[in-house]
Amino acid sequence: MVPRRLPSAGISRTWPHRTRLATGARPRTASLGGQRQANMAAALQDLHKMSSLSRGQNVISALLMGRGGFSKALAKGIRPLNTSSSASLPKQVKIVEVGPRDGLQNEKNLVPTEVKIRLIDLLSEAGIPVIEATSFVSPKWVPQMSDQVEVMKGIKRFPNVSYPVLTPNLKGFQAALMSGAREVSIFGAASELFSKKNINCSIDESLQRFKEIMSASKEAHIPVRGYVSCVLGCPYEGKVAPGKVAEVAKKMYAMGCYEISLGDTIGVGTPGGMQEMLEAVMHEVPVGALAVHCHDTYGQALANILIALQMGVSVVDSSVAGLGGCPYAKGASGNVATEDVVYMLHGLGIHTGVDLKKVLEAGSFICQSLNRKSSSKVAQATCKL
Ligand SMILES: [Zn+2]
Repeated sequence: MVPRRLPSAGISRTWPHRTRLATGARPRTASLGGQRQANMAAALQDLHKMSSLSRGQNVISALLMGRGGFSKALAKGIRPLNTSSSASLPKQVKIVEVGPRDGLQNEKNLVPTEVKIRLIDLLSEAGIPVIEATSFVSPKWVPQMSDQVEVMKGIKRFPNVSYPVLTPNLKGFQAALMSGAREVSIFGAASELFSKKNINCSIDESLQRFKEIMSASKEAHIPVRGYVSCVLGCPYEGKVAPGKVAEVAKKMYAMGCYEISLGDTIGVGTPGGMQEMLEAVMHEVPVGALAVHCHDTYGQALANILIALQMGVSVVDSSVAGLGGCPYAKGASGNVATEDVVYMLHGLGIHTGVDLKKVLEAGSFICQSLNRKSSSKVAQATCKL
């Protein structure tokens, strides 16, 4: 994050990202003086008086405005309205397709290996730059991923596409390397109870286990992507403190993960929560190293992604056809659908390099193979049946 400089400040004074204004968090390095500070404080108090719902909407409006417009609107005590949004959005976004792993591992029925391979090939052809191909976990824990070696050997490797695989431990890491993986992901949680219940150890213990993978990956020159799960809520703990997410993200980044994917694993987050969490994390990890991973359980995924984009995040995880479910909410939607994310990004004029039509074809292929309906709204809207 690059601190902004106030053009009107006579003396050298840095200003953090403007989005922090919306929650009234104190700038770390700025010391505003006199009337300006009083005006801002009063305006922010007004903002805080709003109900939680309208507060979220105002936060969005505020984010959509330029700094000058926002300050003037606040000073006048009027509600800021959306004017121009494109100024603060990234020009390019990297899509990380997680359907073949995060999506399919939640499917009840075993998916044939050749279907997985074909799906990954179709996604590569669609121009998706990163496709998480499979997971090197024990087949005892995740039977759906027991064909990981066959999948890695069977897929076509496109030169500009990366095919990371999930590796829970050193054994998995070594097996991944043997099968030709050139990038891996590791998985941490921001919730102690989630960590305890899922991998039977504390967050710190889980991070200790990753150290072996980190040193092996350094030796083999393999980039490691880090996931933090439950960043906006936990099925056991409920609300997860943004500070806790920031702490875990910081540790994983310090360990050497080149990118930290912040996962709303159960899809309970709202734009207000996303903003608060990202503000905390952006204190510890550069925004260029952050990704968001949203599930659509409560229908908030696209709104949450939009907020993240406005705060400077330019990497988004998604799953073709919205594959996957949520093991903690029966019948709930899975990951946000790649088709819907790409549709939104292109509508915002953001470059992805992804061919939406081809992603739709990949989605229709996997839905036919699984005999299920696509969770993508774009797929539903464009379906000719
Ligand atoms: Zn997920």
